[in-house]
Amino acid sequence: MVTRIPCAAIIFDFDGTLADSMPFLEKIGVKVMMKYYGVSKNEATSRYRATTGLPYEHQVRDNFQGNPVNDEAVEEFEKLKIDKIYEQVLFPDAIDTVNRIVAKSIPVFVSSSTFQATITEYFRRRGILELFAGIFGYRPGFEKGADHFRYAQSNHGVDLSRTVFVGDSLKDYQRTLGYCQFIALEGMFSEKEFREAGHDGIVVSALGEIPDLVVAVE
Ligand SMILES: [Mg+2]
Repeated sequence: MVTRIPCAAIIFDFDGTLADSMPFLEKIGVKVMMKYYGVSKNEATSRYRATTGLPYEHQVRDNFQGNPVNDEAVEEFEKLKIDKIYEQVLFPDAIDTVNRIVAKSIPVFVSSSTFQATITEYFRRRGILELFAGIFGYRPGFEKGADHFRYAQSNHGVDLSRTVFVGDSLKDYQRTLGYCQFIALEGMFSEKEFREAGHDGIVVSALGEIPDLVVAVE
């Protein structure tokens, strides 16, 4: 018999996990790095991927520390992102997956490095805002990971020791350490890469696998 993970809550990352937005975000992220920092496409791509999962503001700060054009680069990225982010589709099994988890009486949250207003508006436009128990977006000082997890704990009474975060990036995995469990979704990163990063838990290749792996806490 399959052992299911007892869950008090499941928190999903947004970009690349619920939404098929990574090809778009990587394209504009790389374009902005090439333009502002004069790096080649290959170098920009590898720098983008090494820091993906973080807000773009941190991606450029980590890659080009102290560079005077950082603010301008971030501003351009965010402008390009807002122009097209609402056109990015959810993965085909995203809504069904969330519905099946909610039907198991497990509340579902979203924790994202996309700005709060943008992510709320994204779900509102699709008419599925009410599916979620909470949607946490980025603002400086309130990030995906520790800040969002602690907020879920203090404002929604979520037991983090019985919470699973589902994400598609190595940074997502690292940000759960010490807070909650992690399910890796393959896409931008392979199972091998998650293993090399230290993740010894579940890796799925589609969201639809998740509802059968979890059960509500008694
Ligand atoms: Mg992601």
